[in-house]
Amino acid sequence: MTVGVEPSHRIAERALEALKEADLAATPRNFEVWYAFAEGKNPALARDIQIATDEFGKVSQKAADQFYRHHIQHADLSRDVIDLVTRFRAEVSDLHDMIEQTGEHTAGYNATLGDLSTQLRQTTAEFPAVGKLLEGVIVVAKDMHSQNEHLESRLADSVTEINTLQRNVENIQAEAMKDPLTGVANRLLFDTELERQMDEAKETGAPLSLVLADIDHFKRFNDTWGHQTGDQVLRLVAEVMNANVKGQDLLARYGGEEFAIILPDTTLQNAVTLANHIREAVESRRLKKRRTEEDLGTVTMSMGVALCRKGDTAETLIERADQSLYAGKETGRNRVVSETEVKGDWAQKRKGAA
Ligand code: GH3
Ligand code: MG
Ligand code: MG
Repeated sequence: MTVGVEPSHRIAERALEALKEADLAATPRNFEVWYAFAEGKNPALARDIQIATDEFGKVSQKAADQFYRHHIQHADLSRDVIDLVTRFRAEVSDLHDMIEQTGEHTAGYNATLGDLSTQLRQTTAEFPAVGKLLEGVIVVAKDMHSQNEHLESRLADSVTEINTLQRNVENIQAEAMKDPLTGVANRLLFDTELERQMDEAKETGAPLSLVLADIDHFKRFNDTWGHQTGDQVLRLVAEVMNANVKGQDLLARYGGEEFAIILPDTTLQNAVTLANHIREAVESRRLKKRRTEEDLGTVTMSMGVALCRKGDTAETLIERADQSLYAGKETGRNRVVSETEVKGDWAQKRKGAA
């Protein structure tokens, strides 16, 4: 199926229709959220809206505000921080080079001044008549020498300060790409990395696999043990998954209780094997409440695996992994399903549900 470029006004119309259906005011914020929803490029937002609709019949204004903060504002902010940091790093790098060059020149100049002073002293001994005049020159040269030394040490301080600033900026950039709850890569880094790895795979012809993983019946878990304990479990699941993801593989929190793993240089079969390994590791982990040590049982995950094809965009690849994940849910959960097992009817059903 080819995906055409839909005129933006059609998307806007559908966004407005959906807002009306949800009985929400067409405020700029709500519109921004539903425009992104109608555009269909943000599966995590689509899923959140779906969950809220399933659970409560419709989306409350409070939930809509939360979607705005999470899916629109936060993403914009992270993107801004990264832009800013990238520009700052380029500026700092130029400045750093400039200061180092100036420092080298100053050091060279000082050395020359030193040599000249020595030579001048010798000349004064040979020609006493010009002695007085040259002594004056030596005094000026010495003064310049000491000024240069002062400048040199200030430049060295500036370089140290800039290096510290650069490290701070690098930390900020790393934070902007991290999911605050679990510490793994966030959605923004996932999106950027997936595009980059897909370009590379298309260029080199190496296989690239994608795993989407979703905790089974997590709502039930939250309802039983509370949201905070749910958060603890999310952290633990991320930890267990991360322990099994190595090298250039990237684990990211894709949305609520969904994770994604980008696997460069990995065939579909190997990705399925790894996904099963992770699934078993999560399943076998006995969960305990942090303070009371109360036994919380276990959680399981369903996973969908897809392999990047020639004409794929990030959306089409994610869509196939998502359909496989959905098939895993529909056929009993705690399962890994490869895209080769997904028949057309699953794909159709998934589309109907999304
Ligand atoms: P399924 O097996 O079909 O995936 O069932 P489910 O209950 O996991 O699926 P559903 O997608 O309907 O619900 C996801 C639930 O995950 C909703 C919410 O309770 C929980 N959840 C999502 N994000 C978070 C989070 O950040 N913290 C906590 N504690 N729970 C979350
Ligand atoms: Mg989910
Ligand atoms: Mg789930």
